Amino acid sequence: MARVFNFGAGPATLPEDVLIQARDEMLDCDGTGMSVMEMSHRGKKFVAIAEQAEADLRQLMSIPDNYKVLFLQGGASAQFAMIPMNLKAARGDGSADYLNTGHWSEKAIAEAKRFLNVNVVADTKPSKYTLLPAADELKFNPNASYVHYTPNETIAGAEFGYIPESGDVPLVADMSSTILSRPVDVSKFGIIYAGAQKNIGPSGLTIAIVRDDLIGHAGADVPAMFDYKIHADNGSMYNTPPTYAWYIAGLVFKRLLANGGLEQMKQINERKANKLYAAIDQSGGFYRNPVALNARSWMNIPFILKDDALDKPFLAEADKAGLSALAGHRSVGGMRASIYNAMPEAGIDALIAFMHDFAQRHG
Ligand code: PLP
Repeated sequence: MARVFNFGAGPATLPEDVLIQARDEMLDCDGTGMSVMEMSHRGKKFVAIAEQAEADLRQLMSIPDNYKVLFLQGGASAQFAMIPMNLKAARGDGSADYLNTGHWSEKAIAEAKRFLNVNVVADTKPSKYTLLPAADELKFNPNASYVHYTPNETIAGAEFGYIPESGDVPLVADMSSTILSRPVDVSKFGIIYAGAQKNIGPSGLTIAIVRDDLIGHAGADVPAMFDYKIHADNGSMYNTPPTYAWYIAGLVFKRLLANGGLEQMKQINERKANKLYAAIDQSGGFYRNPVALNARSWMNIPFILKDDALDKPFLAEADKAGLSALAGHRSVGGMRASIYNAMPEAGIDALIAFMHDFAQRHG
C-alpha cells in the first residue's frame, strides 16, 4: 500500500525522511551493530544522541539557560498531576488559576483539583469551546501559585493568538498540539509541556521545559517519578527513559533546524491552514468550521458537513483516496483534519481537491 496522508490527531504522521533514516539505522546505528532501541541509555552512543537532541531543541526554541528540558514519560496527562504536585508550594497561596477552553483543559483542571484549590478564570464551555476569552477579560489572582492554560485545544480546534499576561505568577502551558508549530517566547512561561506524539515524535515521550526556580518544591509525599528535581538532577535518566522516542524526536529537531527552524514552520503552517479554511469557507455551506475566526487553530481543523448522513460516505471515500483518519473526535463528531508540521502541503492540496469533488457530487 502506498503511504497515505494521515490526518490523525496523534499519534500523528512523521516526516518521511525521518522514518527512512530510522529504518536505515534499524540494524546498525552508526557502526554500533545495533538499533538505538537496543542500546543502554547510559552508553556513550545513546548519551550523545540524547544530548544532541536537547541541544537541538534548545536551539530551535531559543530556550534560555535558566530552563531545564526534561524528557519524561506518562504523557501530557501525567503533567496534569505533576504540575500541581511541584508548583503548589513554589510560591503564592497554594491555589491555581486555570483557563477552561476545551476537553484537555477540563482534564487538567480535574487532576489539579486533587491537589489544590482551582479557580477557573475563564470558561468557554457554554460556546461548546468555539470561542476563546479576550486577553483583557482575564483577571488573575496575583497570589496564585501558577496559571495554567492550553494554547491549542486539539479536539475543538481552538488556538490562542496571544499569550495570557499573568504578571509574576508563573504561566504553565500544555503545548501538546502546537509546540514547534511556530516560534514562541519561552521566557514568558514558567513551564511548557507537551506529549511528543504530534509535532515532536512517537508517543511515550513527554517534554517539559521548566524554569529553574520552579524546581525543588515538591513535598516529601511526592513520589520520585513525579518530582521535577529528581529528573532534572539526573539528566532525565533517573530511570530508563523512552530511548527510541527520544532518538526519533532528535531526528525531527535536526530536520526542522535544517529546514529553516520555527520561523519557516510558521510560514508553512499558516499557509497550509489558511488554504484549508478557505476551502471550507468557500464551499457554499457544504462544509463548516464552527470556531470563531480569531480562535482558529493552525494544527487541528474540525469541520462539519451540511448533512451528517454524508459523514460515513465522506470518510469511506476519503480513505480510498489515501486521506486517512479524518473522523472528528468521538465527543464532537464531524471531521477533523490534524495538519501538524509533518503533514506535507501536498496532503492539504489533496484533501481540498477531494472535498471539492465530494461536494460537487453530493451538493
Ligand atoms: N493535552 C492536549 C492538548 C492533547 O491534545 C492531548 C492528547 O491528544 C493530551 C493533553 C493528552 O496527552 P497524552 O495522551 O500524552 O497524555
